[in-house]
Amino acid sequence: MSPYMDHHDPAISDRVPALISFFDVNNICRYANGFHRNWYGREPQSQIGRSVGELLGQDVAAKQPEHISRLSLGEQVTFLAEILHADGTPHSASVRYVPQIHNGKMTGFYAFVFDMDDQQYMFESMFGASAIGYWELDFRGVKKSLEAIALSGWHDPIQHLYDNPAFMRQAVDNVPVLNMNQKARQLFGVEESDMKGLMLGRFVPAGTETVVAANLVAYLKGETNFENETVLRRLDGEPVEVLLTASFPKKDGFCNTLTLGTVDTSYRNAQDRRLSRLEAELAHSSRVSTLGQLAASIAHEVNQPLGAVMTNGNAALRWLNRGAPDLDEAKEALKRVIAEAERAAQIIDRTRSMARKGEPKRVECHLDDLLADVEKLVHREISRLGCELLVERLPVDTCITADPIQIQQVLINLIVNAAQAMRDQSGRRIIRLICSASARGLILQVRDNGPGFDTANSDGLFDPFYTTKGDGMGIGLSVARTIVEAHGGSISARLDETRGSIFEFTLPTYTRV
Ligand code: ADP
Repeated sequence: MSPYMDHHDPAISDRVPALISFFDVNNICRYANGFHRNWYGREPQSQIGRSVGELLGQDVAAKQPEHISRLSLGEQVTFLAEILHADGTPHSASVRYVPQIHNGKMTGFYAFVFDMDDQQYMFESMFGASAIGYWELDFRGVKKSLEAIALSGWHDPIQHLYDNPAFMRQAVDNVPVLNMNQKARQLFGVEESDMKGLMLGRFVPAGTETVVAANLVAYLKGETNFENETVLRRLDGEPVEVLLTASFPKKDGFCNTLTLGTVDTSYRNAQDRRLSRLEAELAHSSRVSTLGQLAASIAHEVNQPLGAVMTNGNAALRWLNRGAPDLDEAKEALKRVIAEAERAAQIIDRTRSMARKGEPKRVECHLDDLLADVEKLVHREISRLGCELLVERLPVDTCITADPIQIQQVLINLIVNAAQAMRDQSGRRIIRLICSASARGLILQVRDNGPGFDTANSDGLFDPFYTTKGDGMGIGLSVARTIVEAHGGSISARLDETRGSIFEFTLPTYTRV
């Protein structure tokens, strides 16, 4: 092993695909790695004793005094050279000298020589075979235009770009396309014969210049890369949706060429559009199927307020038909007629708005107000059925984000069902509406002390058209479930340990006021 390489493992340096040599202060080779065999066709050992001139050529040797003086100062030296291969062909090479310093004195230098032709070949094969469409653009013209702008008194080229879209048009029209890889040519319908004199402007439809300008602005702002999506056009004029990517070299000053990547996003965008259309249709069709259920339940839902309208209307007539008409009682009855008619109208309105495309209504509403409305609305019906309603509110006022009419609809359904279940039983008929808060959200429970239901089918209760009532439609609970789930909650039923049923649903979005 050479004493000059004593702290290196030659097995490693032999595997490096570059020439590694060590020269002493007299420019004589003292070490050569295995790659000398590939480059010069000679055994590395036979290189020992040869001079820089013999190995790297006379042009390099001529500059050696200057290089040696820089190396003695501890500097590294990098330069390009043409170096002959064994077959006599000159290869462009990048050479780097690294000094070896012992006790402050240079004892020699390493020479690393990289074959640029190989690297160019590697770059070209990568560039050519990439799945990304690459463009090499000549940006010197743009550089000149920007310099001209600066000379004419415009100190802020970025502002100038924004203020003058016409400048950008002119700029893209004058950017020569130096090279396009196979993928870019395929994507933009460019043949080899089209390449001569091809300008970027051919691919940039009117109105898209600003997108290209955004790349330039990013570059001027000192960013190292930039990405945006746009629609360019093929040579035959057909639009192509692309993702544009540009990486800017991280050195000062303006680079002369810019490599732009283009990825075809048409397929992905078409998929995205199809998906969102499907989603919209799905959301609509699920609303429509809910609507189907609602349409069937309208009779059921609207029957309650309609019944109340009839009862109160008749009551009003009776108060008026008396020998001495009781106007106050008649007025009260008529007020109830109006309130019930408004409720029927709201149910119908809600049904109609559910059929429309668009987000369901979500508002912040006070739970206590909502419950007070429910109490008022069910009062008549549950009294008629001989039931009492006891409401246990939360200790603090709480707001929910919901569609209040729909939540009222759910509660009314549960309460009226409870009242109907106890219709034929003797003793006190109590319905409890209990509110509590939990980690799952707000819990609203409706409990009764009625006969309960067949536990083998507690989930089936929520199926559309499941009913055990002669006059039932089996719609109320299925609509309740649809509404609760649309609010992000869940609904379930179970038997009370002692007697009766518990129907319970959650509302995840609530805040304490
Ligand atoms: P409908 O009341 O029109 O029959 P629902 O969907 O409201 O339809 O209820 C479905 C069925 O669930 C009822 O027919 C009844 O058998 C049962 N059910 C609902 N609530 C109760 C309750 N509180 N106690 C016992 N059974 C109930």
